[in-house]
Amino acid sequence: MNFESLAKRSVLTQPVYEPGKPIEYVARELGLDPNGIIKLASNENPFGPSPRALEAARHALEKGELYPDGGCFELRQKLAVERGLGADQFIVGNGSNEIIELLGHAFLGPGDEVVMATPAFVVYKLVTLLFGAKAVEVPLREWRHDLAAMAAAITPRTKLVFVCSPNNPTGTANTEAELRAFARALPAHVIVAFDEAYADFQESAPDLRPLAEEGRNVVCLRTFSKIYGLASLRVGYGYGSAQLCALLNRVRQPFNVNAIAQAAAVAALDDREFAENCARENRAGLAQLEQGVRSLGLEFVPSVANFMLIKVGDGMRVFDALQRRGVIVRPVKSYGLPEWLRVTVGTKAQNERLLAELRVAMASCLS
Ligand SMILES: *Cc1c(COP(=O)(O)O)cnc(C)c1O
Repeated sequence: MNFESLAKRSVLTQPVYEPGKPIEYVARELGLDPNGIIKLASNENPFGPSPRALEAARHALEKGELYPDGGCFELRQKLAVERGLGADQFIVGNGSNEIIELLGHAFLGPGDEVVMATPAFVVYKLVTLLFGAKAVEVPLREWRHDLAAMAAAITPRTKLVFVCSPNNPTGTANTEAELRAFARALPAHVIVAFDEAYADFQESAPDLRPLAEEGRNVVCLRTFSKIYGLASLRVGYGYGSAQLCALLNRVRQPFNVNAIAQAAAVAALDDREFAENCARENRAGLAQLEQGVRSLGLEFVPSVANFMLIKVGDGMRVFDALQRRGVIVRPVKSYGLPEWLRVTVGTKAQNERLLAELRVAMASCLS
């Protein structure tokens, strides 16, 4: 039986997402002690989940025999209060990645076009291709989304536009005024998804809620994977147009978000102090990395997120050298940046370790 001849064409041509390698993989492959390895590759929270979220998750696990609340009632209520929106203006997903996929389910098919920046989060392109639509990629300008060029790339076939601010993998952001003006100038047949996965790390993040209030086709994506430290539990959400959220709700699985994740997310929202502390530590970590990288004489892209691009020359080679020394970072060759590495901001001690190992790795790659 040749299953490939039975599969949809879009499956055969679908590119594969390359995640940051788990610590255990690297330890096995290189014969290293996993306890000596640090992972600064996937923008995870170096401080773990909030203790209150952990406690809520443990408690929820005891009712593991029951199906979760498919409507995520409590979490949406809490989010609605927090953001001053209606509970019907939220859609909760198995990570915000699921919501990107739901946008594909609801809106994309062959012949449709999706406008996105490049380099930007690769999942926009993967979902676009999965649904047989065409990815229209617009290069960044001075490391930020070129919103004028993106607006110019819109055609009558454009269904969806992704804007990632702060952007992954660059850590750069567009201003509130830029983002609002962009959404307001879009034709009525275009939906815009603002990916705000890293907005929690910004000192004052753009407020795009007025766009939803004006009735625009807008959905903003947020996640509990980054500042809330719950990446393993898979929970994120979209907010914006109630009509859009209702459509996305139709195409999701009935129980797409598990009860443990829902309970942890609710408790995480209550622990404001933890999130604020993580944001503060992250800003200090960014400053520490900037200073360290500068003293190594390396170029970097100033970031407002929890990661930073560093120019190291041969990215794959330095990535390998760092990995052999027990520091996992992210090469960004697949993002068209072969000379750069993307490094997650860690704890103070992890950042120190990274800088020290980077110095050695750079020296070994020069010789
Ligand atoms: C990490 C990240 C997300 C979050 O994905 P989850 O599915 O919620 O874990 C979303 N968008 C971008 C750009 C990211 O880097």
